[in-house]
Amino acid sequence: MKVVILGAGTAIPAPGYSPAGVYVRIGREQVVLDAGAGSLQRLARLGVTFLDVDRLFLTHFHPDHCLDLVSFLFAMRLPEPARRKPLTVYGPPGLRALVRRLSAAFPTWLEPRTYRLRLVELGQTTLRLGGYTVRTARMQHSAPALAYRLEAHGRAVAYSGDTEICEGIVRLGRGADLLILECSVTDERKVAGHLIPSECGAIARAAGCRHLVLTHFSPVVLGYDIARRVRRAYHGRLSLARDFKAFRL
Ligand SMILES: [Zn+2]
Ligand SMILES: [Zn+2]
Repeated sequence: MKVVILGAGTAIPAPGYSPAGVYVRIGREQVVLDAGAGSLQRLARLGVTFLDVDRLFLTHFHPDHCLDLVSFLFAMRLPEPARRKPLTVYGPPGLRALVRRLSAAFPTWLEPRTYRLRLVELGQTTLRLGGYTVRTARMQHSAPALAYRLEAHGRAVAYSGDTEICEGIVRLGRGADLLILECSVTDERKVAGHLIPSECGAIARAAGCRHLVLTHFSPVVLGYDIARRVRRAYHGRLSLARDFKAFRL
């Protein structure tokens, strides 16, 4: 399994910290978790095009996590090179309404012509896909939100999207080889519905993950010693993401 952080930042621009996105090569497939602005462009830097991506998993519908859905669907509509294989987009309830509204805003420009588009709204569930499984858990955020855990050959990566500290993310991250948590605010400026470094540490310790990766840093968080706050609870392997940080499991 290969995991690359496509965007380690939030909606607030900062060099090296683009809006949310994670690329995963797993089983026989290439998938993207969240699609903040510029995700499609950054995928190209990995040598991955819109023709290669098999599935998109969206955690929730805040623009810094899903705006590039428009870019994906528009690129896939263009005749040359034509996309042939189907695309499945997953997300919490509201996905179909979102795509309907986007299609109304960009009349005809997002509608597939050469491939099949499936939109799948998920609750808490387990999916068995091409050589891997995907488990979801509902997160606590200011919008309906899911976290995802992808697992193949005994290796697991879990990704929180945006959330308040909750039991669901501990359960989903249990024993994960890679636990990717958002860390968009800092202990000194806690905001409901988002994680702070000390909470990320507490989640990682409770989950017993093998490697904690923090991402989704707003510029203000980067001004603090994030690792020191994580270390109050968690003493395992820790990485602070930047765009294009890559992991092999
Ligand atoms: Zn959000
Ligand atoms: Zn966010």
